[in-house]
Amino acid sequence: MTDPFGSDQPPVVGSLDSDHIDCDIAIIGSGMGGATAAFALRDTGRRVLVIERGDFLPREEQNWSAAAVFAEKRYKNAELWYDGRTGKPFLPGVHYWVGGNTKVYGACLPRFRVEDFGAIRHPDGISPAWPFEYSEIEPYYCQAEKIYGVHGNGEGDPTAPWRSADAPYPELEHEPDLAALADSLNAQGLHPFHMPMGVDLRPDGRCIRCQTCDGYPCRLGAKNDAETRAITPALESPTVKLITRTLVKRIGTTPDGRTVTELEAVRDGRELRIRAERFILAAGAANSTALLLRSGSARHPNGLANSSMLVGTNYMVHASTFFMAVDPRRTNHVEFQKTLGINDWYLGNDREFPLGNVQMLGKLKAPMLKEARPWAPDLALKYIANHSVDLYLTTEDVPKPENRVRLDRNGKIWVDWTSNNLSSHAELLKRVTRTMKRAGYPLILTERMGIETNSHMCGTAVMGEDPGRSVIDRDCRAHDVGNLWLLDSSGFPSSAGLNPALTIAANALRVIDTGVIDG
Ligand SMILES: Cc1cc2nc3c(=O)[nH]c(=O)nc-3n(C[C@H](O)[C@H](O)[C@H](O)COP(=O)(O)OP(=O)(O)OC[C@H]3O[C@@H](n4cnc5c(N)ncnc54)[C@H](O)[C@@H]3O)c2cc1C
Repeated sequence: MTDPFGSDQPPVVGSLDSDHIDCDIAIIGSGMGGATAAFALRDTGRRVLVIERGDFLPREEQNWSAAAVFAEKRYKNAELWYDGRTGKPFLPGVHYWVGGNTKVYGACLPRFRVEDFGAIRHPDGISPAWPFEYSEIEPYYCQAEKIYGVHGNGEGDPTAPWRSADAPYPELEHEPDLAALADSLNAQGLHPFHMPMGVDLRPDGRCIRCQTCDGYPCRLGAKNDAETRAITPALESPTVKLITRTLVKRIGTTPDGRTVTELEAVRDGRELRIRAERFILAAGAANSTALLLRSGSARHPNGLANSSMLVGTNYMVHASTFFMAVDPRRTNHVEFQKTLGINDWYLGNDREFPLGNVQMLGKLKAPMLKEARPWAPDLALKYIANHSVDLYLTTEDVPKPENRVRLDRNGKIWVDWTSNNLSSHAELLKRVTRTMKRAGYPLILTERMGIETNSHMCGTAVMGEDPGRSVIDRDCRAHDVGNLWLLDSSGFPSSAGLNPALTIAANALRVIDTGVIDG
């Protein structure tokens, strides 16, 4: 028996003496949900094993190469998934590394609004209420902001929710070109604000405010991602271990299907069984679903934890658009662009329906535009990128049963997805276009994100009180399986219109603090 918790064992499991590992709590996935859970469990005395299919993402020159990251897709190492509408394969925006998708995330870490936890009406349906209110998760947002070193409370954001403590670090200043844009937005009666960001810009921090942050791995380890801020400190505890390059293929249960007994995994081609008392599934919304569906048995013919038949359904991912506002006369000198946001249309205000959030993208560069405009000469793309400010428009999408993740006979992942609330998104686009033209940018270029840009995916195993209408309970425990919790974004009842990572982390902290997992 391999005992990774024996004295003198390294934090990251090396070679294995046997095909079995025992632990108390097994966590599948080291992304935002899994890593935060490991961090929260590090002092409980429970033997925690984090199981990650990927390896450590190397720190290397290519981390900061737009060509390597975007054109060659060097770190986008997922298998192909399939589009249920067209039947075509696509490369999803999923990254199998220690730290998961946060290794390349934009580190923009807003809280969801108070209103997001209640029901909100949209043109294409209701964004349902969560089984708890903002006040219940608020203390854990504070904790998550500390763990992920957030800068700024979202100063000036007209929709900012109340908070019981300030973010640990001050807001990030806008660079001059963005400060000028903020002035123009203010003059138009809007309320631009400083986006809360998780980068290491403490006085002695490692962040150098470069252009290669959003979408890139950080060569300096200065992005506050799930590896640097949660896995690494969690591994300082002798009771937390990480095993990499280990793909969990199936979740095994007792014959009655009520209790998980072990994980069937493969590490470097070798079969491995991992036994534990409790199991946390945090493989990301689509992969957690896929694993549940692959873990069916005679007792669970439709997949594990799926008596409701809801596993895989209600996949949400936001309606989003990349937006470039170009002034051919003005070079945009900005290095770190992702400091400004606009939420004036987030809650609707003058309209019946909310429209969404606007935030800056990391500075776009020519190789990033090539995929969307392959026919355009490189020089033209370079000129445009040098003269653009780049925004990201996000509209909340509502859960629909027909938007779902499913498996085919060969176990491949299919995504059936039709975007919704597009009338609100079109209105948001219209307003932002008008605003940016007034701010002095005559040329607007936009690109709607397709099925492969699923960075904000959530849903697929909805959280709720009623076992007939949800997959997991309010504490994220599977209704059907007593010792299985889902702590990634799969339990989100709604997608809100904002970046999900801080809410994933806060929710994991909330659940672990109940003591139901380590008690
Ligand atoms: C380019 C990009 C930019 C983004 N920017 C932002 C941002 O600015 N702000 C924000 O809030 N969010 C952002 N996001 C989204 C954010 O990264 C995700 O919401 C978050 O990481 C999801 O956390 P998770 O725990 O659900 O899944 P993940 O972080 O994806 O982690 C899942 C982990 O599980 C592992 N895994 C999967 N299947 C298995 C298996 N069968 N066995 C073992 N391991 C498995 C994966 O390798 C991965 O490490 C961005 C995402 C991308 C791609």
